[in-house]
Amino acid sequence: MDEAEDPPDPQQEPGENDDADDDWADICDHCGAEIGDNPNALLMLVRDSSAIHIGHSERDGKRVVQACCPDHAAALRAEYAARPWRRRELWAGKVYWAIDQRGGTAKLPQICADTGLSPWQVHLGVLYHDWRLVCARHRIRVARLRAGIDRAG
Ligand SMILES: [Zn+2]
Repeated sequence: MDEAEDPPDPQQEPGENDDADDDWADICDHCGAEIGDNPNALLMLVRDSSAIHIGHSERDGKRVVQACCPDHAAALRAEYAARPWRRRELWAGKVYWAIDQRGGTAKLPQICADTGLSPWQVHLGVLYHDWRLVCARHRIRVARLRAGIDRAG
């Protein structure tokens, strides 16, 4: 019988795993090509308001991406440059991380202490998260209606 694989450690920072099992991380973020020993591969730091780094809040809003070649690096740079920066998205990520760290429930003062956010920023982060859920549910409902899966009404 094969050795059982350990589940991923939720406390572990992405990229901190030295196991060879995380080959998924060694691909071009633009085309999915394997990077391997590609001498043209590039790593870049891009701004991304959805990037939250557990335990390293100074890194929040920054994401490391990799490309297999300069053209794909340029494409990724353009993609992230075009992505709107949303403070509320960043706050939402921090709030949900803080709640998760406390086992799924937390009081507002605890969230503020854990995230460094003001109560108003926490509130706006939660609203942003809820708004994104409503939008996602609406898109699913519209797609199902268009596919004839749901009955109208
Ligand atoms: Zn590529």
